[in-house]
Amino acid sequence: MAEKTLFEKICDREIPASIVHEDDLCLCFKDISPQAPVHYLVIPRKPIPRVAEADASDQAVLGHLLLTASKVAKSEGFAESGFRLVINNGPDGGEAVPHLHVHLLAGRQLQWPPG
Ligand code: 5GP
Repeated sequence: MAEKTLFEKICDREIPASIVHEDDLCLCFKDISPQAPVHYLVIPRKPIPRVAEADASDQAVLGHLLLTASKVAKSEGFAESGFRLVINNGPDGGEAVPHLHVHLLAGRQLQWPPG
């Protein structure tokens, strides 16, 4: 069996994380190295390595990640001031953890374009 990813270990409570939301399909938890006053990660429980490796059978879970990010933004009270969702894919995309995750950033004026 393949070695668990870091984020699978968080799902399985083998590594601690500050969890903001969880349900049958996903988890949302605080990033360990926040790049904004709010920096959460929304991850599928299914260990899809990156968005480029998702397929049609993952359509519902991919949509669920975005809807969950929006729901968390509303419930935590920063939806109206604004937020950013980011998915890094592969080396040039800046991906460090090979388990699909959506960054949810908020709490300051974010710059564009990103570095
Ligand atoms: P990537 O660069 O792959 O898009 O983002 C990976 C993110 O995971 C980074 O923002 C990094 O700070 C975060 N991260 C790495 N290790 C841990 C960890 O053990 N716990 C948490 N909560 N976040 C982590």
